[in-house]
Amino acid sequence: MDILNKRIATQSNRPQHFYTIHWNVGKRCNYDCAYCPDNLHDYTSPHRSLESFQQIFKKIEQQIPPKLDIKIWFTGGEPTINPNFLEFCKWLKTEYPDRAINLGLNSNGSRLPKYYKELAQWVNKIQFSSHFEFLKLDKFKDVLSALPLKKFSVNLMAEPEYWDTVQNIVEFCEKGQINHHIKRIRTKSTWTNDNRKYDPFYTPEQIEWLEKREHAQSFDEIGERFDKPDMLAYYNDIDEPRQEWANDMITRQEDDFNGWLCGIGLEGCQIDQYGNIQRGVCKIGGSYANIDDEKITLPTEFITCTKKRCSCVADNKCTRYKDESTREMMRPHIQFYIQKNLAESLGKNSKQLTIDDKINY
Ligand code: SF4
Ligand code: SF4
Repeated sequence: MDILNKRIATQSNRPQHFYTIHWNVGKRCNYDCAYCPDNLHDYTSPHRSLESFQQIFKKIEQQIPPKLDIKIWFTGGEPTINPNFLEFCKWLKTEYPDRAINLGLNSNGSRLPKYYKELAQWVNKIQFSSHFEFLKLDKFKDVLSALPLKKFSVNLMAEPEYWDTVQNIVEFCEKGQINHHIKRIRTKSTWTNDNRKYDPFYTPEQIEWLEKREHAQSFDEIGERFDKPDMLAYYNDIDEPRQEWANDMITRQEDDFNGWLCGIGLEGCQIDQYGNIQRGVCKIGGSYANIDDEKITLPTEFITCTKKRCSCVADNKCTRYKDESTREMMRPHIQFYIQKNLAESLGKNSKQLTIDDKINY
């Protein structure tokens, strides 16, 4: 099938007053999911100390424009397996109550309910992922039953091999009005190790079941519920932008932005499992710093995309233009929608952020 990306510019349809750090706290995990690449998880990596977590945050925080609120989304490995993780979240919320506004994480749900109840006092959102190969169904449900509904959501990895359990949890979530999002497993085309090839196959009945439920409730990459799509897409300089879901665009393979001007990394960064800091999950432009550097300087310019696929939903929240002349033409439109978005969140950001403080367009 000939799949084309006919957009000429895109931007985020999400709140504009945040600087977002996607922070991989390390590879250590207690699971070994078949679809998870070996470079993302292991049973042996050492745990980072509390002091080290604190120093890293202090270094980055100094560089973030003072008017932006900071949102941190922790991933791993499994973040909660680090014995210092809960203490670090507590420290962030205690020492930076007006700056570290929004904390969240992905977790495989394998800790006890007591742990998650305490953690929920210090983070805004826990997004549980169900990994059926290892998950203990009753224990997982106990965890979900122990927390206030607004504090968590469930990301269901719809593994075809565990279809009965997928349906069981979806039913549990629907009954309990638990925010949940069903995720199709995508083929990992980059894997070279034949022993770990994973190519999910859904029957037509399973596809039909998925299609009915995939957007029943929707969340962004940090687990917040949004009923409106997460991207604005422009197809020309006349019409209003279309509201679109990044995930749908990726599924349709319309995510080739090779050669585009991309604003990834201007109001966010990603810290990878090795402590390298990049603009985004796509790692475009390589690592511009490491957490051990004495000083970390954040990027301030757009970058040209050299990738063939932009397959991360989080990355897709950045502003992009087809080329330099498109940027010249479309910048006022993009600016207008950023301003509109800022106006909608007025009051949520106490630092009175305006378009003059923004660099992401
Ligand atoms: S729980 Fe998450 S990090 Fe751990 S192996 Fe599974 S997918 Fe990878
Ligand atoms: S892959 Fe990276 S640089 Fe390319 S469009 Fe996506 S976010 Fe931008």
